[in-house]
Amino acid sequence: MNKEKVLSGIRPTGFVHLGNYFGAMRNWVLMQDEYDCFFCVVDWHSLTTHPDTKELKANVYRLMGELLAVGLDPEKCVLYVQSDVPEIAELYLYLNMLSYKGELEKTATFKDKVRQHPENVNAGLLTYPVLQAADILIHRAVKVPVGKDQEQHIEMTRNFGDRFNKRYSEVFPMPQAFSYDKSLVKIMSLDGTGKMSKSANQMATLYLADDDDLIRNKIKKAKTDSGPTEPNAVKPDFIENLFGLMKLVSTPDTTTRFEADFNNCVIRYGDMKKQLAEDMVNFMAPIREKAKAFAADRELIKKVIGIGRDKARASADATLQLVRKAVGVDYI
Ligand code: ATP
Ligand code: MG
Repeated sequence: MNKEKVLSGIRPTGFVHLGNYFGAMRNWVLMQDEYDCFFCVVDWHSLTTHPDTKELKANVYRLMGELLAVGLDPEKCVLYVQSDVPEIAELYLYLNMLSYKGELEKTATFKDKVRQHPENVNAGLLTYPVLQAADILIHRAVKVPVGKDQEQHIEMTRNFGDRFNKRYSEVFPMPQAFSYDKSLVKIMSLDGTGKMSKSANQMATLYLADDDDLIRNKIKKAKTDSGPTEPNAVKPDFIENLFGLMKLVSTPDTTTRFEADFNNCVIRYGDMKKQLAEDMVNFMAPIREKAKAFAADRELIKKVIGIGRDKARASADATLQLVRKAVGVDYI
C-alpha cells in the first residue's frame, strides 16, 4: 500500500528555535517512520523578507546540520532545498492565476510583514501562500506538520488546490495541517509579545545554537509577574508559556510541583526559572553539539542535498505532468 505523503518546510532565515522544534521538526522526525515524507529548506520563501543573500548559503548549511541533528534521516525522508526543484516554480505560476489579490491581502502573515517591513512589500510576499501551496501540492501531500502560525496558509492551499481541481481536473488531494499533539503548537516568546521567531524577538527566543549561559540568561529574563493572589487562578499567557516549556523539557514531577505551588499561591518564579533553565540546557546542549558536528561536514551536507534534490524532482515531475495535461499545455 502506498504511504500517505507529507510535506513541510522551514525558511533558512536564521537560527532554528524551540518553536520550530516543538511546532514542526519534532513531528517530522516521528513522521519519517510512518509516512512518505518530504522536508524542504525553503530558500525562495526567505527571499520575500531577506533579499540580502550574503548569509544565505551559510544559513542553508547550518539548517541542514540542525535538521540532521534532531534526527531527520535522509534514508527515511526526502530532505532537499526548494530552489533545487524548479517544478515548484512552474506550479506556482499556474496557481497564481487561481489566487486573488483580495484574499492574499487579507492573509494574517502578509499583514504582519507589511507592518514590520513597509519598505519592502513585494509581490513575492503577497503571493507567499501560493508558493507554499505549490510546495505542498507538487508532491500531492495530504499531511502538513506545522505550527499554529501556518494554519491559515494550509487552508489557503486547500482553496487553491480545490479551485485547480474544479477548473481543470481532479489532480490534488486536500492537505491538512498535522501535529501529534492535541492541537497545533505555538511557542510564545519569553517576553510574552508574540511567537518565538527566527527573524524577530531574538533575545526572547531560545535558539538550538544558544550556549548554556545564554539559555540561562534568556530564561532568567523571561516575563513573569508578582504571582497569583487567589488559589487555582487562571494563568496569564506568558506564565502558561513557561509551564508549557517546562512540560516539554522537565520531568512530570517537576512540573506538577510548580503547578501545585502556583495553585497554592506560593510559587517563586525565580526558582521555577532556575529549574527550567537547567532542564532546558540539558535538553538543548546535545542537539547543539550534534548540529555543529554535522554543519562542519560540508561534504556530507552537499551529498544529502544532492540525494534529496533527485528524489524531490522525480516526485515533483510526476505531478507536473498531470498538471500540464489537466491545464492543456501538453502539446507533443
Ligand atoms: P521567520 O521568522 O523567518 O518566518 P519562523 O521562526 O517563523 O521564521 P519558519 O521557517 O517560518 O520559522 O517556520 C518553520 C516551521 O516552524 C513552521 O512549521 C512553523 O509553523 C513553525 N514555527 C515557527 N515558529 C513557531 C512557534 N513559535 N511555535 C510553534 N511553531 C512555530
Ligand atoms: Mg515564519
